Amino acid sequence: ALKERQTSGSLYYDEVLRSELLEESELEKVFAKAIKDGEFYVVLQPKYSLQTRRLVGCEALVRWDHPGKGRLAPSQFIPLLEKHNLLVTLDMFVLEQVCTLIKGWQNKGLPIFPISVNQSRSYLFNTHYERTLVDLIDRYGVSHQLIEFELTESLFLNDVKHLSLVLASLRSHSFLVSIDDFGSGYSSLTMLKDVGIDVIKLDQGFLKGTDEHHRGKVVVQHVIAMAKQLGITTVAEGVETSEQAQMLQLLGCDVVQGYFFSHPLEISEYEALLIDDRLPSS
Ligand code: C2E
Ligand code: MG
Ligand code: MG
Ligand code: MG
Repeated sequence: ALKERQTSGSLYYDEVLRSELLEESELEKVFAKAIKDGEFYVVLQPKYSLQTRRLVGCEALVRWDHPGKGRLAPSQFIPLLEKHNLLVTLDMFVLEQVCTLIKGWQNKGLPIFPISVNQSRSYLFNTHYERTLVDLIDRYGVSHQLIEFELTESLFLNDVKHLSLVLASLRSHSFLVSIDDFGSGYSSLTMLKDVGIDVIKLDQGFLKGTDEHHRGKVVVQHVIAMAKQLGITTVAEGVETSEQAQMLQLLGCDVVQGYFFSHPLEISEYEALLIDDRLPSS
């Protein structure tokens, strides 16, 4: 149901944006100006280890502070940008923001944890992309182990082979790679079997109903166990209740992310967690 709402939401805003941007060239202009004027920015959602009950890092999530429409969520603009091949530019912008943040924290002597960034599917079709990405990170002198790339499972339905190559290449540069929204597509087991990955992020929908339904719980339990045996870290996303958190701990899930622990935070709020990295007592 959430997926449906997000989809219709994005269609709606797609229409709103499109009606104002009749020409594609106009969208490009609006987008370029928005980047230049600092209308895009990132928020950071903490991830916690269930074992140590401490911060282990965060995910960078993009927002658009649109002058006329206010703060837009990714579902309200990402589909349109993707359609017009502008998402790669946005992803690169987000990555640069993340590098700037890590560099800044290093200069301030703050403890540093890895940050994950989401990557669009366009990635697969641009051979120069990886070079550009590595060059950017190296220009900032950010250690590769501090950057994790999240690629969404369902976007690669027909490209598992290609995805596998892209991820192997990223890992050869010592970046961490994760499969986002794991369990939302139909290739989850193939991913585990054939694709070299460091992390799987269990989709929120995958966890839905696990409180009441034995079957759901058994599936999640065994996915976590399989991942563990394969040396893959499991992250549960969209954790909203203490019941879910307790169940995930019982099932041996490594890391949690969700509103129950923290909403995505402004940068200054997240910085405070670098100093006090304990799980907020609940
Ligand atoms: P995602 O990568 O799966 O990110 C998790 C989404 O779930 C985020 O939505 C986050 O705010 C939301 N969330 C976190 N905890 C909870 C919870 O407890 N309950 C619920 N209901 N939701 C929770 P957001 O920020 O709206 O982003 C949506 C999607 O947009 C992301 O899903 C990701 O696929 C995409 N996205 C975000 N930033 C970027 C970006 O910089 N580049 C690209 N290519 N995609 C991005
Ligand atoms: Mg993600
Ligand atoms: Mg996800
Ligand atoms: Mg996603």
